[in-house]
This record gives sequence, C-alpha cells and structure tokens, in this order.
Amino acid sequence: MNLPFPLWLLLFPAMLGLACGSFLNVCIVRMPKGQSVVRPGSQCPQCNTPVRAWQNIPILSWFLLRGRCRACRKPISIMYPLVELAVCLWFLFCAVQFGVGYFGTGADAAMAAISYTLLGWLLIGLMLMDARDGLLPDAFTLGGGLMGVLLLAAGTVSLPADAGTVYATTPEKIVLHRLGWIILVTASLLLMRWIYRLVRRREGMGLGDVKMTAMLTAFLGLRLTALAFLAACIVGTMYAAYVAMRGKSFSSNAAWANRRNAVPFGSFLAIGGLVAIVVGNQILAWYMQFLR
Ligand SMILES: [Zn+2]
Repeated sequence: MNLPFPLWLLLFPAMLGLACGSFLNVCIVRMPKGQSVVRPGSQCPQCNTPVRAWQNIPILSWFLLRGRCRACRKPISIMYPLVELAVCLWFLFCAVQFGVGYFGTGADAAMAAISYTLLGWLLIGLMLMDARDGLLPDAFTLGGGLMGVLLLAAGTVSLPADAGTVYATTPEKIVLHRLGWIILVTASLLLMRWIYRLVRRREGMGLGDVKMTAMLTAFLGLRLTALAFLAACIVGTMYAAYVAMRGKSFSSNAAWANRRNAVPFGSFLAIGGLVAIVVGNQILAWYMQFLR
C-alpha cells in the first residue's frame, strides 16, 4: 500500500469513524420512532437505564458487557458494534481511496473525500432504518441531499475562474448542472410513481425512495446514481421473488412485514450507492467500451 501520508494519520479517520458509527446507532434506533437523537443520553432500549461512559466505548463495550445490559441482563443487539465497525472501515476506506485530497491538490478533491465519507455514513443508516422500520427519515434524505450540493459547491471554489464568461462561470455551471439532474431525476421518478398508481391502483415506490434517489444524485451525479438505482432494482426484484417463494420476510417488525409492499427498496438503494462509490466508475468504464 502506497499512501501519500504517514500511516499514523489514519488514526484520525478511524477514531472519527468509531464516534460517528456510535452516533449513527442512536439515529437508527431513535429517528424512525420520532425521538430526539440528542436527549436523553444513551440508555438501554429495554429498561431505559442510562449507559455509563465506560459502557459507551464503540465496539469494545459490547464485548466488555458480553452483549448484555448491565441492569436488566437483556441482550444488546450485535447491530451496535457492527455499525460502529462498518462506519470505521468506511471512513478508513475513504481516507485511503480519496485521501490524496486531504493533503494534496485542491478543495474539489478534499470536498469529494468528505462527501463520499458523509454519503457512506448516511447510506449505512438508511439501509438499516428501511430494513428495520421501513422508514427513510427526511433528515437523512433531504438533509443529506442539501449537504451533498453544498459540498459540491464548496469544492468548486478552488477551480480557476474563467475570465470573459458572460453567463455562468465553471463553478456555477457545475452546481447548476447537478441541480438540473436532481430536478430531472425527481420529476421522472414522481411521474413513474404516478403512472404506476394509475395502472396498478396501489403504491409502488415510496416517497422516501424518491427523496433518497434525489439525495444520491446530489452526491454522485446522474451516471453513478443510475447505476446504483439499477443495481437496487435487480437485487430488490430477486429479493421479492425469494420472499414470495419463502412466504415471509426477514423483518422482525410485524407491522412492516405485513405491509403489502414488503421490499425495503431503500436498503437495496443504499447498497447500490455504496457499490457505486467503490467500483462505480470502473463498471461504467467497462460498460462504455461496448458502446464504441
Ligand atoms: Zn437494560
């Protein structure tokens, strides 16, 4: 591995990833219930006993407690340490993969690294919230989309200003271009959703899925979002076929599992988005060679 910076600097994204993973657990558990993610502090979801500082160390505490609450002895989900580990690994991956941006070139590369890091965090959260509760909170979809556009705009600041342009400069064009795709993608999905409802007389895609796709477009642009969406459709259809064969879904939430449309499309879209960040450009390049 040939890093453009000393290895110890990876401690920073690793620690930040653990802390952000810990906070993501709070969001995943509380947001679908409409609870505050700030107050009260961490507590056992079973018996509401406050969690002490030493019991709140990412990953480590779950093992120290042997996966059980100190007060009520009820099991603590393995989801907690796994989310912390996943977010930590994602932050490390982004630091190494896009890390040149932190120490090298310009604001656009640095902002790309930050936006991929943030997008992965949002997607891991959305994946689990849709699978557990069938919900995609606006704070993650709409709030995330806004952050995506702001980070893109911040990244264009370092680009050279082109003199003599009458209408829009390069930074303005990049941001307007992205906003245009967001509007187009959202409008197309709303139209598809409306037609589906007219023809089938039932809900196809949820509004949350539309907002989440718009959020992906804000971060990734059109092509990588289309790739993520296509991957989600393929895997989602395979999952739906499997569930139909098996006769029940995996979710422990009975109310959600009994819903007619029991495919957590947002979860598959999240997986598609993560794949698009990691290997999306390679897949697109491979696909483009057939078009020549
Ligand atoms: Zn407890």
